[in-house]
Amino acid sequence: MSDSCAVPGSTESCDIVVSQADAKTETRCSACGTEGRPVERQTVLHHVKHEHLERVSDEAFRFCGDQQCPVVYYGDRETRFSVDEMRELVGAKATGDARPICYCFGFTEGDAREEIVHTGKSTIPATVSGLIKAGRCACEVRNPSGACCLGEVNRTVKRLTAERETSMKETLTPADDCCAR
Ligand SMILES: [Zn+2]
Repeated sequence: MSDSCAVPGSTESCDIVVSQADAKTETRCSACGTEGRPVERQTVLHHVKHEHLERVSDEAFRFCGDQQCPVVYYGDRETRFSVDEMRELVGAKATGDARPICYCFGFTEGDAREEIVHTGKSTIPATVSGLIKAGRCACEVRNPSGACCLGEVNRTVKRLTAERETSMKETLTPADDCCAR
């Protein structure tokens, strides 16, 4: 009964009831079992191709971040949208240089790789965090995951930097062999 919520002191117990009810709803992707991240309906509307918009219901949607899983959004009542129903490449599902790492300012994995190959580091994380501080990001809508781009930017830069270091070590090894002759 909703009346009990109005009784002073009972608010806390009402909150517990609500969170238990939430825990019972299916929060995992029905295709891969990954626990998805809740996203706003607005985010789903922004990314789904126009010919599929009529399927965007009032369900509670989540984003599946599993790289191998083709499902991008799933609702709590069976509606699903897959990678080929999106307007753009989904960073969490794609690989290679075209993969977007920051949707707000348009950086791709290739942009970060090029900088790292030439200079050994990337200015992208500082640029992105500066623009975020200046209030110019809209990750919650522009990024299909609904999350801030900076985390993915930092992870990608770290991985590419490590990959470059590894490849440099590999190219040094044959040279060492030559000198040892
Ligand atoms: Zn999935």
